[in-house]
Amino acid sequence: MMATEEIRKILSTIPDPEIPVISLEELGMIRDVEVQENAIKITVTPTYSGCPAVGQIRDDIRTLLESKGYKNVEVELSYTPAWTTKMMTPGTLQKLKNYGIAPPQHCCGNELCVSGKCSKVICPQCNSRNTDLISEFGSTACKALYKCNDCYEPFEYFKPLV
Ligand SMILES: [Zn+2]
Repeated sequence: MMATEEIRKILSTIPDPEIPVISLEELGMIRDVEVQENAIKITVTPTYSGCPAVGQIRDDIRTLLESKGYKNVEVELSYTPAWTTKMMTPGTLQKLKNYGIAPPQHCCGNELCVSGKCSKVICPQCNSRNTDLISEFGSTACKALYKCNDCYEPFEYFKPLV
């Protein structure tokens, strides 16, 4: 196996600090893996600029690769092109839903939708569209808090970012 492939495989086991069922790789955050003569360079695109988890993500990548014998691991952040929720694969969206988080919808594409206030957010428990926004911010800034008017369950919505 090529070194870059092997490194990608190792990185695919690192969960997102805020959503443990999804890996950084599945979120589309690992942009590039470069094996240089004396160093390994990993380019990461943070999901949200100013995301408080960036420091932890950087540490997690370094610690894991170094524990597997890789030396001089550099983690570089790249903000261009910016990460968008469209980089998540359908499998990743399904995993989010199974975890109880409504996956980002790019349904109407209007301003409300993009700011996480789409009125048609689908409940991850019962698939109802009869839901209401409770708070623009959930446990983290990238999620909004909703409640379902059919099954009465509150849930978090991973806000679209495009
Ligand atoms: Zn529901």
